[in-house]
Amino acid sequence: MFAQNRRDFLKIATATPFVPGSLGAMGELALCCEDKSIRSMCEMCSSRCPMEARVVNGKVVALQGNAYDKAMGTSLCARGVAGISQLYDEQRLTQPLIRVGKRGENQWRVVSLEEALEYIATKLNHLKKTYGARSVIFSSKTGESYDMLRSFAYAFGSPNVFSHWSSCPIAIESAFEHTVGETMHRDFENANYILNFGHNLFEGLDIPLTKAMARFASNPSKKLVVFDPRFSLMASKANEWYPIKAGSDLAFVLSLLHVWIRDGKYDKKFCATLYHWL
Ligand code: SF4
Repeated sequence: MFAQNRRDFLKIATATPFVPGSLGAMGELALCCEDKSIRSMCEMCSSRCPMEARVVNGKVVALQGNAYDKAMGTSLCARGVAGISQLYDEQRLTQPLIRVGKRGENQWRVVSLEEALEYIATKLNHLKKTYGARSVIFSSKTGESYDMLRSFAYAFGSPNVFSHWSSCPIAIESAFEHTVGETMHRDFENANYILNFGHNLFEGLDIPLTKAMARFASNPSKKLVVFDPRFSLMASKANEWYPIKAGSDLAFVLSLLHVWIRDGKYDKKFCATLYHWL
């Protein structure tokens, strides 16, 4: 019976040109150092996919999806994998800076967190006293930081808070709230026919959904129709691609709805359970 301990396996693995991924790239490092995996969350976009970081001797050497999440598996999108570059970017801000020169001169001094907070508080109080609290707009990434910032803005006296949510999902969430009364979720697994407008999952958003769409697109019994002015990756997977004019999506959808309603070509029973005004 063939038996091999981990150390011997690593020696062989790092000596062969056929070893894939980070193990081969790490070479001797893998033999001498602490090597562990830490589960975390990707912060490279607001999808916040679950991920796993491989940490060797205190340094992240590889990122991948969290295999314990079934919808995710070990996949991350290219942007998510690139998170490692952001972590160790030489220009990454790791301490507060206050500008000392004129705007555009790129002159800064490093300050403590206490001094930075004091500086911001003084500026905010000045703006509030001079122009009123509503003169200040607060902005942050969606998520917990947004919730905290919103509470802070309201306490300060300004309703002006915006985030990714304000410009991206607000349209779909408002539409659902005013039609079906709650947020709906895409169910690719149970769909048979998908009309996709300009949404390009294959170029970097939400890995579990992208994988579900990949399964859908590769199933010959299902049909994917894509509307997009350019031949996107999504369009390349479609059964039918229509390069409609940019910005004409809404006109197309309204025309489609008009024909369906005029000719009674929709599932009346199904719609009656959702849309009481029909
Ligand atoms: S979609 Fe990509 S960048 Fe966004 S959270 Fe997931 S892995 Fe990260």
